[in-house]
Amino acid sequence: MPVMPLGLDPSLCFINGDWVPSTGGAHAALINPSDGSTLCDIARGTDEDIDRAVTAASEALRSEWGKATAAERGRVLAKIGHGMLQHIDELAQLEAMDVGKPLKQARADVVALARYMEFYAGACDKVHGETIPYLDGYTVYTLREPHGVTGHIIPWNYPMQIIGRSVGAALAMGNAAVLKPAEEACLTALAFAEIARAAGLPRGALNVVPGLGAEAGAALTRHSGVNHVSFTGSVGVGKLIQETTARNVVPVTLELGGKSPQLVFDDADIDAALPFLVNAGVQNAGQTCSAASRILVQRGAYDRVVAEMGKRYDAFRVGPAMDDLDVGPLISARQKAIVEGYLAQGDGLEVAGRGKIVANAPSGGAYVAPVLYAGVCPDHVLAQEEIFGPVQVIIPFETEQEALEIANGTQYGLVAAVWSQNGGRQMRLAKQLRAGQVFLNNYGAGGGVELPFGGTGLSGHGREKGFEALYGFSTLKTIAAYHM
Ligand code: ADP
Repeated sequence: MPVMPLGLDPSLCFINGDWVPSTGGAHAALINPSDGSTLCDIARGTDEDIDRAVTAASEALRSEWGKATAAERGRVLAKIGHGMLQHIDELAQLEAMDVGKPLKQARADVVALARYMEFYAGACDKVHGETIPYLDGYTVYTLREPHGVTGHIIPWNYPMQIIGRSVGAALAMGNAAVLKPAEEACLTALAFAEIARAAGLPRGALNVVPGLGAEAGAALTRHSGVNHVSFTGSVGVGKLIQETTARNVVPVTLELGGKSPQLVFDDADIDAALPFLVNAGVQNAGQTCSAASRILVQRGAYDRVVAEMGKRYDAFRVGPAMDDLDVGPLISARQKAIVEGYLAQGDGLEVAGRGKIVANAPSGGAYVAPVLYAGVCPDHVLAQEEIFGPVQVIIPFETEQEALEIANGTQYGLVAAVWSQNGGRQMRLAKQLRAGQVFLNNYGAGGGVELPFGGTGLSGHGREKGFEALYGFSTLKTIAAYHM
């Protein structure tokens, strides 16, 4: 049993400001991916729990939370961010144990969540409407209003960061949130709720119902009292959620991953690029929506990039999260089997580098050694499908046009990067690449809480992060006054 901050009981749900058992009384085991042991039992939320949570959120909108001014909301969010940082050590340990990510990455996630809360705390009272010049005798203006009850279904790979960008922005706009964390990793979502309660977030403004996707998750997406759903996860479940929410004509934000490319041209600063090329593939064991799983390299730089990336791969050490090595385990035995299935399809490809699993890694852990493939055809399954594991492919190209066609040649469109000193090429590609974010001579821009994020195609639609998210978590009202 992990040490929970603030003496939390991880088997409970957080509904209407109270810690309560699930009405069904059932539990699910939370597995430690570093060794396969059971960390603890979590609540297995039911339709009834979701209904209680949605009712509590609706009531919150009619009482203290709904009446709070934007400045008051901001003050509470700032306190939540502060509370996260006060508990940074416990939260980082919790996330590392639960997700399997090395401790230093988990620590960075706590800081990121705190930063989201700071950003949205400051943004609450800066969302202005407009006045619109109109016919004689009219004064017309617009108001940004909350959707109402927002449902948040999040995955297991970056629970804290995704809570920050989604729940943070929703609360900033004055919505009341119901959060369904992933069954594989939900401890920091529970800790977030307790820290929010201690920071003075009024009851019902945030509710957390852990449980299975097909049970609590599905119940949340079909509940008629939910006015907006934001989902981060797999394409298959994203499609299902879009279909379900369509029945209630409820808007959705979907962030469904990608097959993001980094384009490396002959004139690039290769030394500067190398750490970004490899880290964007193996960070969080490759279980990152915006992982750069495709590296496209122009012929003149190709041999050097393959050799240098390969060296770095050979040096990667994989082991338990708490040992804080380069790479931790995957989230589960199931995810390991999926990734190994893809690796089997790489038979016959050139392996340019491969990490090592340390000798003391427990046999029950979901470990996969990172693999770098070179000389891969753009239409190979490993160059087309999202693997969600520590696997990258290097694809050679000759011309800018060819690079663009390869880069845009998947069904995804989340993130892309261009490494080149040529300003004209940077601008051309920034426009033509099919992606929600394009990075020029960097990758990820250090996380970018301030930078709108989201995709196109199978990567989903809608934007989270940055100020833009506040528009997604609100609806616009136009008011026309006639005063002749
Ligand atoms: P992964 O395959 O990477 O685990 P999923 O898309 O299955 O990703 O899961 C992401 C989130 O979606 C989790 O919180 C999960 O419980 C939830 N989920 C899974 N299936 C459904 C569903 N049918 N309806 C609503 N939520 C779901």
